Amino acid sequence: MSPRTTAVDDARDRCRQLLELVSTYVDGDLTGADRRRVVAHLRQCPCCQAMANGLEQTVALCRQARSARLPADVRKRARARIASLLAAGGRRGSRA
Ligand SMILES: [Zn+2]
Repeated sequence: MSPRTTAVDDARDRCRQLLELVSTYVDGDLTGADRRRVVAHLRQCPCCQAMANGLEQTVALCRQARSARLPADVRKRARARIASLLAAGGRRGSRA
């Protein structure tokens, strides 16, 4: 027997939503409840944590290099990376 893992689907949706916030969080623009939500999730979700760490490093490098806000270009690339990782991590339906 192989039951449909709706719990996994659920978690994936939550991660997807979180990752949307993570790029904002890493950029330092996230405040209040949203920020707490991200922090709490990162604490218990290793894959999102790894993602956040990677983004944080990218942002830190950018900040060092330009001491400015994350360029829209870099932000876009980070988002694309998140999207592709999400797509690779869990292929839902057929989108070839
Ligand atoms: Zn997660």
